[in-house]
Amino acid sequence: MHSCDYLIVGGGIAGASLAYQLGPHARVIVVETESVLGYHTTGRSAAMYLDFYGGPKVQPLTLASHDFFQSPPADFTDIPLWHEEGCLQVARKDQQHKLDEAYQYQKGFTPHLQQLDATAVYNRVPFLKPDHIVAGIFDPKAKVLDVHQLHQSYVKQARSNGVQFWTDAQLFDLHRDGGQWLAETPKGSIKAEVIINAAGAWADDIAAMACCKTLGLQPKRRTIIIAGYYDFDVPDNMPIVFDVDEEIYFKREASGLLICPADEHDDVAGDVQPHVEDIAYAAHHFAQMTGTEPKTIKQKWAGLRTFAPDRHPVIGYDDYMPNFFWSVGQGGFGIQTAPAWSQLAAALVMGQGVPEHIKAEMAARTATLDDYSPQRFG
Ligand SMILES: Cc1cc2nc3c(=O)[nH]c(=O)nc-3n(C[C@H](O)[C@H](O)[C@H](O)COP(=O)(O)OP(=O)(O)OC[C@H]3O[C@@H](n4cnc5c(N)ncnc54)[C@H](O)[C@@H]3O)c2cc1C
Repeated sequence: MHSCDYLIVGGGIAGASLAYQLGPHARVIVVETESVLGYHTTGRSAAMYLDFYGGPKVQPLTLASHDFFQSPPADFTDIPLWHEEGCLQVARKDQQHKLDEAYQYQKGFTPHLQQLDATAVYNRVPFLKPDHIVAGIFDPKAKVLDVHQLHQSYVKQARSNGVQFWTDAQLFDLHRDGGQWLAETPKGSIKAEVIINAAGAWADDIAAMACCKTLGLQPKRRTIIIAGYYDFDVPDNMPIVFDVDEEIYFKREASGLLICPADEHDDVAGDVQPHVEDIAYAAHHFAQMTGTEPKTIKQKWAGLRTFAPDRHPVIGYDDYMPNFFWSVGQGGFGIQTAPAWSQLAAALVMGQGVPEHIKAEMAARTATLDDYSPQRFG
């Protein structure tokens, strides 16, 4: 029988970052179904850091993560966690009013945001279909993250603080036993004071196993393709390009052009694969925007973005089930929020106050802990 203070279920970015925060203070075990940590959604993201993404309840956690990505602790990583790529949101004539609204909203927290006319848009992305786009807004400071480095650094640092990561260790039974939790895995039984649910798309399954009320979390499948060859030039300094309605986005990768049709299909937790119609949809949307279909598809994958019913983060203790903590609903922003999200979650797990830098960002966006509480669903 093994024992710990905190048993974290899930070895993706949510579990690894929280293990990193809790490791110096307590005995922590992370259990992960797969043989590789980060195999599911964490390993399938588009790796972007965008200030505006996710809306006002997500922004405090994104903005409060900025400084960690920019200047991580000295021993955390020897290579940068991000680089500047810029993000250009573009609009057709019928979307101009949406772009205007987006500009008015985003300039409040992205002071360097620029409005571009059609000529300036086409200068940055010359292969857009002629006369298709009428304007854009450009954030020169939008970043691309090194997700692998971030996740691995969390794991490495957590291990150095004594955290155990058990892989091939799917939690299959969980119940209260003498005031503690008793968790069963193929690698052995674990007694834990607190269960931390960081199981991504499986989070409601873990809650059901613990006899907690589930929250109605919904995994939504999203597809990405990498177009290998294209008969137009992609400028070296091309920013990430977003349709203002998020119908499509694309960005440069070492191996080609990453294209995402921004699809969102309700799905069930599992090892999702891309559907042929979504791949076709990506190519179709890209052709509508550029007049050119991708010539070959070098890579394709799909992942699950799991949302709470209101699409806000869920961070906090369950009100009804003792010592059951939720850190779920990372949706499409679990990587770019991970530093602040895990700091906030660790503070709440340990019964401490909200860290000051997160408190300031929450206050600026009138976000409160109630917005993140699992109790908000009744
Ligand atoms: C196509 C796509 C693009 C995205 N782009 C971005 C982006 O640009 N920027 C951004 O910030 N975010 C992005 N995201 C979202 C981001 O990837 C997720 O929010 C994040 O990875 C979620 O992390 P997680 O740890 O909660 O989930 P996961 O990485 O899925 O980890 C959960 C883990 O729990 C484990 N588990 C489940 N049940 C059990 C059990 N019973 N026992 C043990 N282990 C269990 C699973 O095996 C899994 O490994 C994107 C996602 C997708 C799919």
